[in-house]
Amino acid sequence: MQGGSMASLHKTYVNQTVRPGRFLILPFALIFMATALWAQRTELKPGWNLFSPDQDVELGRQVAADAERQLPMLKDSKVDNYLNRLGLRLAAKAPGAKYPYQFQAVNDVSINAFALPGGFLFIHRGTIESADTEAQLAGVIGHEIGHAALRHGTNQASKAYLAQAPLAIFGGVMGSNSVAAVLAQIGGGFAANSVLLKYSRDAERQADLFGTQILYDTQYDPRAMAQFFEKLQAEGQSRMPEWLSSHPKPENRIDLITEEINRLGGIPQGVREDSTEFREIQSYVRTLPKPKGGPAGGQPAAGQPGAVRPAKPSNGYRNYSTETLQLRHPDNWSAQGTGQSITLAPENGTIASSQGEALAYGMIISTFSPRAGKSGRFELQDATDQLIRDLQQSNPSLRVTQTGRQTRVGGTAALSTVLQNDSPVGGVERDWLVTVLRPEGLVYFIGVAPENDYGDYRRAFETLIDSIRFTNR
Ligand SMILES: [Zn+2]
Repeated sequence: MQGGSMASLHKTYVNQTVRPGRFLILPFALIFMATALWAQRTELKPGWNLFSPDQDVELGRQVAADAERQLPMLKDSKVDNYLNRLGLRLAAKAPGAKYPYQFQAVNDVSINAFALPGGFLFIHRGTIESADTEAQLAGVIGHEIGHAALRHGTNQASKAYLAQAPLAIFGGVMGSNSVAAVLAQIGGGFAANSVLLKYSRDAERQADLFGTQILYDTQYDPRAMAQFFEKLQAEGQSRMPEWLSSHPKPENRIDLITEEINRLGGIPQGVREDSTEFREIQSYVRTLPKPKGGPAGGQPAAGQPGAVRPAKPSNGYRNYSTETLQLRHPDNWSAQGTGQSITLAPENGTIASSQGEALAYGMIISTFSPRAGKSGRFELQDATDQLIRDLQQSNPSLRVTQTGRQTRVGGTAALSTVLQNDSPVGGVERDWLVTVLRPEGLVYFIGVAPENDYGDYRRAFETLIDSIRFTNR
């Protein structure tokens, strides 16, 4: 932990030996330095946006209602009240538009949290259960408040809308009654690949800085967010679908946070780490029933004693559709997803652990936002390479074993690439990656199975990919 260096930085102020001749000068020097450091706080502002702050709330409210129907909400007033007390204390320090922040727990043991526009926050119970201190939980919530306050969701939606309907925009702002229409057009509901939850690297960096500033301003230990990332990394987070495409490598984030703390003037004295209230809520959450059915049910991971190997893919198929595509998958698989990514997997195909959820058998469907190439255009091979580099950030063992081959998916040019990675059940797995450029970004499909079992899955993956039809304009 870089905390050691921060602590010693702090010491140079408080433990400085005061010699007689310097007595008068020192206080002024300290004041000057404090002012200079304050001035270096990274200034964070929302980017370009077609929506008004009120429209953020209107849109967020609609999508939150959708999310509450689709997600296993914990619906425990004791937990939600606590999250609201903590969250509102943090949100009170958020600059910019004042949103009606709301905080709710999701009955999901994976470590995740997300914010919808207008300040609707969802926090997985796994985040509460795995945080070492209240300050760590506050760090995660502060990061998510940052996404809402900095309007990252509607910034993304604005860009998507501009790309699809440039002529529908007059004067750079949308009409007052068009939010629902825009939402439908950009596929911005609470579904797989929602444009509202796809943030750029830069947006993630801003949210990290924002969360650090909020911790500092509420007298929490500003190192707590970085400590939480380190803890996740040390525990060996394997494959967390929600994190795959969106969150930068922990080391980079920790350096960024450490620099910001130094800009803020180091760690203030008497910072809060924990609270008895947090301890009580954490113990209480741990006693609540786990969600039924999925891997979140806490059964032992495959490869461990008592593990259940999933049944082979069924020969019967079932239709599945999102706002942007439809496909067929084996009828003994089911869909799970919380916005950024969806997985289609058999029972026991995903492995739950305290670090999150890892897919061992099944298919991930997600969307990646590539950067335009030198020509200013998006090239399929280049975008795919960017995606693979991005996946490697959180999957250091991931490597290409067969470079991209041209194919077609749903009548659109596609690229088929084969990769290898460590399997969460031990040994190596094969990952079949299929990528397609669409208006919403680089849509990708990854069929995942341990190398030894891949033969059983190949046909199911191929049938699924062949069945894909894109349904949006
Ligand atoms: Zn984020």
